[in-house]
Amino acid sequence: MSARPSRTSRVAFSFLTNSIFFSSFLSAALAQDDSTKLRDCLTSTSILGSLATFSDAPNWANVTSPWALRFNPEPAAVVTPRTRDEVTAALACAVDAGINVSALNGGHSYGAYGLGGVDGALVINMQRFTETTFDAATGLFTYGGGSRVGPAATWLWENHGRHFPHVRANWVGLSGSSIGGGFGTTSRFLGTPMDNLDSVEVMLYNGTIVTASKVENPDLFFVIQGAGSSYGIVLSLTTRTWKPEYSIVTNFTISLGAVDLDTGVQALMDIQDWAMTEAPDTFALRWQLAGEWNGSGYFYGNPEDFDVLFASLTLRLPSTTTTTVRTADFWAMENFAAPLLNGTADTFPPRSMYLQALVLRSDQPFTFESAKALYQHTTLAFNRTDLTKFGFLDLWGGVSRDVKDDAQAMVYSTNQWLVRWEGRLANGLSEWPADGIEYMQAGFRPFQEQLRKEGVPLRGFVNYRDTELTLDEWSVRLYGENFEKMKRIKSDLDPLGTFTTHAQSIPSS
Ligand SMILES: Cc1cc2nc3c(=O)[nH]c(=O)nc-3n(C[C@H](O)[C@H](O)[C@H](O)COP(=O)(O)OP(=O)(O)OC[C@H]3O[C@@H](n4cnc5c(N)ncnc54)[C@H](O)[C@@H]3O)c2cc1C
Repeated sequence: MSARPSRTSRVAFSFLTNSIFFSSFLSAALAQDDSTKLRDCLTSTSILGSLATFSDAPNWANVTSPWALRFNPEPAAVVTPRTRDEVTAALACAVDAGINVSALNGGHSYGAYGLGGVDGALVINMQRFTETTFDAATGLFTYGGGSRVGPAATWLWENHGRHFPHVRANWVGLSGSSIGGGFGTTSRFLGTPMDNLDSVEVMLYNGTIVTASKVENPDLFFVIQGAGSSYGIVLSLTTRTWKPEYSIVTNFTISLGAVDLDTGVQALMDIQDWAMTEAPDTFALRWQLAGEWNGSGYFYGNPEDFDVLFASLTLRLPSTTTTTVRTADFWAMENFAAPLLNGTADTFPPRSMYLQALVLRSDQPFTFESAKALYQHTTLAFNRTDLTKFGFLDLWGGVSRDVKDDAQAMVYSTNQWLVRWEGRLANGLSEWPADGIEYMQAGFRPFQEQLRKEGVPLRGFVNYRDTELTLDEWSVRLYGENFEKMKRIKSDLDPLGTFTTHAQSIPSS
């Protein structure tokens, strides 16, 4: 067939290209107009002007630099307010200019969503909202919406000897990770950071500040738990806390040695069986996917019970298995599990990466076939020099047995395993390979196909969202049947779509 268009189609084509050209010219011009309007508004008050940064500022690259280097969204402006009034004022400028708004906390989103995810957002950097208070009577801990994991957990420990479940990296944002679920070493018995939220304070698009909890504005609380960035700016979060029952925590490692695929998979099945029948909730385990046939974990129960408990697990494993065990006090172990939790700088530098994650529930856990498909086609088949592999299976279960899917936006009732498979750009390289996404997906696909064959729905985890999914895929995997309700709440609470920024923002109904 000739590639040359006929005269009629040439006319139509030229009309089409002209109108595409015109409409993209128009939208570029309008966007330009909107950001000029935003800039004028932000700089019209001397206070906001000094808090706003625009693309011509010398530190622009720095303030807009993502943790996830595969993305590079270009915001319209970044504002770093100090007070709630300044957040209100910045928000008003954005709404007036028709610019969408993204709150930035720790900046560790795997899709750079804190920076808006796509170009043109007003980013409200919450880094000055880090106030912490503790109420000894209720054990409730309140922290600002710009707090990071390490400083907040350290403050609570050093001043009150208490802990709250948090993710395993010191410089991750506490708002960002708590509204996306969060999973940490104490989550099997204490729940996720999200489970432990008692209430949140949120500024809506019109500057109204609303407290949301299970009893107060429950619809807002519902959507904050899984999709908070689509509904407002979280100013503060209040979480339940816990005082360690035992001052000593046990840490262990298990290695099966160089076993073959079937032996390794069978061992995983044995671990799963033990975990689902014998393991107390206080037993945490991360089994490696990329490292193959080894894992490590923590025991928060009575240290005197550990040896018998651990033996009942390791007895099931191949004779080549080796283990190590050591103990440390609670806070030292916290700083081991989340390196330099009490430090003053990020221990995980930015990287270029792509991750896929799925969860398996307790009624549909691994089968020998699904575990085999996973290991065989991901880690064992991996063969790249421009990428390095990473991945693990976090043993979930525990108190997730009490979670109801319709109690919060993110569905995660009875999650048993959190499975993560990731490719990272090799050291020394700066360009993500053109076939990198497809290569990583191809390795993960046989596992997904096996799950489909077994009738297991694909389910995801908000904090480990797969940035490459379509709306139909991510909405079902992350929110299941809650999605329609979330869209209705979106129409009520964010009618202008002010907080619709990144590709997985919740649309209106
Ligand atoms: C090194 C590293 C380790 C990690 N470890 C774990 C782990 O152990 N367990 C786990 O579950 N996850 C983990 N994560 C994932 C992490 O929890 C998510 O990427 C999380 O979204 C990061 O939050 P953030 O505030 O740092 O990022 P940001 O990019 O600042 O924010 C993430 C999202 O939350 C929104 N948001 C942030 N603050 C607010 C606010 N105040 N109001 C409204 N919306 C807000 C942003 O707009 C954005 O959409 C890890 C990530 C990294 C990079």
